[in-house]
Amino acid sequence: MIQTDIIIIGAGPVGLFTVFEAGLLKLKCHLIDSLPQPGGQCSEIYPKKPIYDIPGFPSILAGELIDNLMTQAAPFKPGFTLGEAAQTIEKTAAGNFIVTTIKGTKHEAPIVMIAGGLGVFEPRKPPIEGLEKFEDNGVEYIIKDPNFYQGKRCVIAGGGDSALDWSIFLAENNIASEVILVHRSSSFRGHLDSVQKVIDMAGKGEINLITEAEVTGISGNGKLEKVQITHQANGLMEIEADHLIPLFGLKPSLGPIADWGLEIEKSAIKVNTLDYSTNIPGIYAIGDVNTYENKLKLILCGFHEGTLAVQSAFARIHPEKKNVLKYTTVNGVQGF
Ligand SMILES: Cc1cc2nc3c(=O)[nH]c(=O)nc-3n(C[C@H](O)[C@H](O)[C@H](O)COP(=O)(O)OP(=O)(O)OC[C@H]3O[C@@H](n4cnc5c(N)ncnc54)[C@H](O)[C@@H]3O)c2cc1C
Repeated sequence: MIQTDIIIIGAGPVGLFTVFEAGLLKLKCHLIDSLPQPGGQCSEIYPKKPIYDIPGFPSILAGELIDNLMTQAAPFKPGFTLGEAAQTIEKTAAGNFIVTTIKGTKHEAPIVMIAGGLGVFEPRKPPIEGLEKFEDNGVEYIIKDPNFYQGKRCVIAGGGDSALDWSIFLAENNIASEVILVHRSSSFRGHLDSVQKVIDMAGKGEINLITEAEVTGISGNGKLEKVQITHQANGLMEIEADHLIPLFGLKPSLGPIADWGLEIEKSAIKVNTLDYSTNIPGIYAIGDVNTYENKLKLILCGFHEGTLAVQSAFARIHPEKKNVLKYTTVNGVQGF
């Protein structure tokens, strides 16, 4: 059981900044995120795009903002459970919450802050019969650790940056024994330099590039062994493979949080703007995941919400203590 003061569900920019604000009040945080890396939308959707409305930064790349937020939170030693969606919540006799992830990891705290943004990013799955049967037995939708594919025959499906970049990475670093990239069109959606690199590597036989084709079937005994590919002109072919990695992007959905008894309006959690508390005492919702009159889904608004929510959390955890606002310019940052 992981014990902490505040369980933060969602390690996006808002969850990360909340660690800092909680730390100033000597409250310790543990973050849970279904994605394998912190940063939420900034890391997953637009890491290389500049953001122009972060106060004090005329322009900053989304990925850089996340790096900075991680550095800012570091003195307060947040814990992380990554690559696991928070699935259930229950209350203990002592009044604490226990949040359990899809993989069974348990976390206990008196306060839960939901900073779940647009929700859990779920992979877009290709319509292949029996696909679910092979999940984690040769079919993966996210590459968490490239070394997992050492010496394996990997079929990557997709035409965006993820499909291109991972094909290059697994082939270039001699990780996979064979990389077969399957894409239904002859043009790609990814960056032009990545497209060119894949074409060059295909020319040298380093990547087996099959365009105008789709993976239409898979088979194997307990684990994936063969992948069927239907080519628009040449018809069906079957190849031996250890892994099929469809990289068709991720789509967000509020996910399990929607069943936690929270008041939901238009797929967002209703909050009291006094402190961003929800209808369940001890549970707060901050950032893109909440809704209230005049809500703006902006990072800077989420930072404000997290800051006020931790003040309220402090009062719940330490009803006997009076919290006096102290400027960081006066007190500095006293880490744990
Ligand atoms: C292309 C694009 C450009 C943008 N440009 C700007 C801009 O210029 N300025 C600006 O202010 N905003 C911009 N935004 C919006 C901004 O990215 C969001 O407001 C911000 O990411 C919200 O942060 P968050 O931490 O609330 O949520 P998110 O960044 O969405 O992070 C939420 C995290 O919670 C996780 N999560 C959800 N449910 C669970 C669960 N049950 N268990 C575990 N983890 C869970 C998700 O995996 C995710 O990592 C842009 C958005 C996009 C898509």
